[in-house]
Amino acid sequence: MSESTVLRLAGVVKNYRAGQERVQVLHGLDFALYPGEFVAVTGPSGSGKSTLLHVAGGLDAPDEGTVSVAGNDMWAMSSRARAAFRRRHLGFVFQFFNLVPTLSAVENVSLPLVLDGVAARTADARALELLQRVGLGDRARHRPAELSGGQMQRVAVARALVAGPSIILADEPTGNLDSRSSTAVLELLRTLADEERTAVILVTHDQTAASYGSREVHIVDGRVSGADDPVAEAR
Ligand code: ADP
Ligand code: MG
Repeated sequence: MSESTVLRLAGVVKNYRAGQERVQVLHGLDFALYPGEFVAVTGPSGSGKSTLLHVAGGLDAPDEGTVSVAGNDMWAMSSRARAAFRRRHLGFVFQFFNLVPTLSAVENVSLPLVLDGVAARTADARALELLQRVGLGDRARHRPAELSGGQMQRVAVARALVAGPSIILADEPTGNLDSRSSTAVLELLRTLADEERTAVILVTHDQTAASYGSREVHIVDGRVSGADDPVAEAR
């Protein structure tokens, strides 16, 4: 028996063009993620971690191979369908938070729902509930500039969760935080994976952050090195 994957990459090749030169960044990558898994993707700078996350999250097209989320081939969809699919199934968290500076915390969190046509009052209630979930119920009307880095990142996690995604994709989410805020964000991600079965991919070059994962995938030069996949081995 095998639990169905929430994410599967098969034979993914990604090239970038720099002037006349074509650089291959991902070289036929295979990857599977199961519900509730928390995978830490580690590797040296420039090894292709962010590229992997962008391709896995439907932000950047692979040149070869397939990316399926809950069995849906993301690159077989129209770009419009893919954007809507992404908003519903995937949550993104970035190193520099990517909050809208002119919007309050609650407006930042509700934005994906509003873009999806959810009524303002419903979106607002859901956003408030998530801000409470991340311990920021009392900061809902604050703008990003009125929050600490750790608080901004918790707002970003709440935003990533607002549509009830099956996967959270986080790219160096603690890269700009002090150690106490980092711990809070990492514990929050681990709780989501453990208690709500939200799969998490955490890209990090910090070994302490990586230790929060239930599995580590190490990338070197766009390839998985020394595949450590106890989940697959146990199956
Ligand atoms: P990491 O996140 O592991 O530091 P990246 O995935 O950002 O690595 O980058 C992997 C390689 O791809 C690097 O050599 C980088 O210079 C190159 N690269 C990334 N994005 C682009 C781009 N948009 N255009 C050209 N080259 C890129
Ligand atoms: Mg990166």
